[in-house]
Amino acid sequence: MFIDTASITVFAGDGGNGVNSFYRDKQVRGGHPDGGDGGNGGDIKIRVSTHVHTLIDFKYRRIFKAARGGHGSGKQQRGKNGATRTIDVPAGTLIYDKETKQLIADLVKDDDQITIAKGGEGGRGNRSHKDATDGQEGQRKDLFLELKLIADVGIIGFPNAGKSTLLTCISKATPRIAGFPFTTKNPVLGVVYYDEKVFKVAEIPGLIEGAHKGRGLGHKFLRHAERTRLFIHLLDLSRPTPEDVLSDYMKIKNELKFYSKALAHKPRILVGNKIDVKTAQDNLEAVKRKLHKDIYIISAMDRTGIDKLLKAIVESLNG
Ligand code: GDP
Ligand code: MG
Repeated sequence: MFIDTASITVFAGDGGNGVNSFYRDKQVRGGHPDGGDGGNGGDIKIRVSTHVHTLIDFKYRRIFKAARGGHGSGKQQRGKNGATRTIDVPAGTLIYDKETKQLIADLVKDDDQITIAKGGEGGRGNRSHKDATDGQEGQRKDLFLELKLIADVGIIGFPNAGKSTLLTCISKATPRIAGFPFTTKNPVLGVVYYDEKVFKVAEIPGLIEGAHKGRGLGHKFLRHAERTRLFIHLLDLSRPTPEDVLSDYMKIKNELKFYSKALAHKPRILVGNKIDVKTAQDNLEAVKRKLHKDIYIISAMDRTGIDKLLKAIVESLNG
């Protein structure tokens, strides 16, 4: 199961209490107030770490507390500040206030960070000649985290179109390749190195008819697709007839349109796969004729047309 949302509660540390204390010696009658201040409570920070790739850990650990500030003591000694508690999240994490649903932060790249809850201030000691005060409470926040995968290119298409195979073929990722639909449950990310350019490609699995209504696996993953800059729409040319290929094409197109305008208008490169298969070769002319669109023809299996496709991707990303 891929967890791409999580709810957590964070408690920043309370401030330490100031203290009433009196320094006594023979000269000073009643003593001299020397109570120290309390230390500040620790803050809670959320930070992007490249070592974290999912929100799955938050399923098991939902509560995070920072240390409280130390209390003051005599001889004007200030309590220690509570240490900051840092929570690591993957790049692409959005942080919402759970109650108001307001977006608080959008952590995009490595080391992006935010102080999400402030520790309470320490109380004042009576060294200031006023009665000591208690430290303030640290902030408490209920947060909703959402991970959006950040890839430059998203591969979309019907189950079995060959998305995983293509991703493996062009990148260093090793997604599971399957002989049947719905095997890929997680969006898989691969890094492509081509012509001194580097870009990230994600497989957007299970994008099928009805996904925009929350059916199938698709809906969950359309979220990940929102941030890609370019789609590769992959068609299985080896379907029994050209009409099947075209109908697959239309279904995915409609899916995007129903989900959001932004997705429908994203730049797209159309790619016909499995040209090594005889049926694909037979379908090709009819498909081309009816599409009225440029289509790159490849075999993700034997690498036919891959170089040309990568060149087109790089051009589109830089253009
Ligand atoms: P996905 O569901 O879109 O990720 O599809 P997969 O990459 O898992 O591939 C589905 C099936 O099609 C697997 O059996 C692959 O081996 C096969 N396949 C993928 N690309 C090609 C291709 O270019 N030629 C042939 N003949 N089979 C392919
Ligand atoms: Mg797959």
